[in-house]
Amino acid sequence: MIQHNVSLTRFNTFNLPSVAEQYLPLTKVEQLSDPVFNVAPQLVLGGGSNMVLLEQIKGLTVHVLLGGVEILGDGAQGAKEVEKRNGSTGYHLPSVHLRVGAGVDWNQLVRYTLDRGWYGLENLILIPGTVGAAPVQNIGAYGAEVAERITAVHVWEYGVGARVLSPEECAFGYRDSRFKHEPGRFLITAVDLRLNGDHELKTSYGAIQAELARLAISEPSPADVALAVTNIRRSKLPDWFFLGNSGSFFKNPVVPKETYNRLKARYEDLPSYPIDENHVKLPAGWLIDRAGMKGARDGQAGTYALQALVMVNHGGASGQDIINFSKKVQQTVRQKFDVELEREVQLIGWKG
Ligand SMILES: Cc1cc2nc3c(=O)[nH]c(=O)nc-3n(C[C@H](O)[C@H](O)[C@H](O)COP(=O)(O)OP(=O)(O)OC[C@H]3O[C@@H](n4cnc5c(N)ncnc54)[C@H](O)[C@@H]3O)c2cc1C
Repeated sequence: MIQHNVSLTRFNTFNLPSVAEQYLPLTKVEQLSDPVFNVAPQLVLGGGSNMVLLEQIKGLTVHVLLGGVEILGDGAQGAKEVEKRNGSTGYHLPSVHLRVGAGVDWNQLVRYTLDRGWYGLENLILIPGTVGAAPVQNIGAYGAEVAERITAVHVWEYGVGARVLSPEECAFGYRDSRFKHEPGRFLITAVDLRLNGDHELKTSYGAIQAELARLAISEPSPADVALAVTNIRRSKLPDWFFLGNSGSFFKNPVVPKETYNRLKARYEDLPSYPIDENHVKLPAGWLIDRAGMKGARDGQAGTYALQALVMVNHGGASGQDIINFSKKVQQTVRQKFDVELEREVQLIGWKG
């Protein structure tokens, strides 16, 4: 049932003040046959961890709370089946196929799978938000992204009905997918994921290697990788319950090789990740830090003192304050490096 003038403050991790003119909790797929779903709502809300909300959301906000984890077919074997190949980081396990409701908490799903000895999501532990939002920006961390595990995305296409999209149809890219480019077309109701199988651990990120070394783990299991990622994330990211934020606010910019060479000649310690022959990815956090904006603030909006890529609400900031400050960060980085930072978060209800 549609409720009116509902506060969304506790439903967004930036803790921004926001009121939905109309609010509908979606708890059953059957609700989608209501004529209200013939057209797109103003806002589809999951865990509110990747958005900046403005104070008034006109029209209908649909809060996706669809639950359930279903094991498809058989092969749901546990950790005992692990067969570790000698001296490698690879495992061979019977694969497990899951269908997960869009409203399920992502981190709870990762823990649920690890507890059962099902592997593949360990690098993605502690990412806030819901399963339904994971394909939207193809969540990723520490060398892994969810698209590697997705076999199908179940959607409601407004005005059309239920559909199942293959991974190819989702057009996944770096923090990107078709869902970002076609807002107002699909509501994701469930995601199918394949775990286990021939599974290579992803430990090449320097931070993971350093943390495993600190833990004195030389032959890590997937659970060890999850522990390392957990420790790293806890040391770097603020707890949004106490300091509102949406994780990485900007994408790491991918620049032409010439831009990279120009900057590297000036800044010897510039970190970089090669993308292809002609392009290099630069860490946005480093750029913001070296532009002197790490820990900077304007009123209650600022960047986090321990990780410049994270914008924070020190308490009482509005969505407008966050956006204004983010523009200042973009401008400062542009002036110093001539590199453009693109926002990763979605702006909701914002016109300017
Ligand atoms: C502390 C912190 C750390 C983070 N770390 C990472 C990280 O390491 N990697 C990473 O990739 N992200 C990270 N994020 C960003 C965020 O967690 C992810 O983008 C997450 O997938 C957002 O999920 P959500 O349910 O909160 O989505 P929301 O913020 O509610 O929504 C995000 C977008 O998806 C749309 N959407 C949500 N649900 C649906 C649905 N069912 N159907 C259709 N559209 C939908 C919304 O309309 C909106 O456009 C971090 C955020 C925080 C706060």
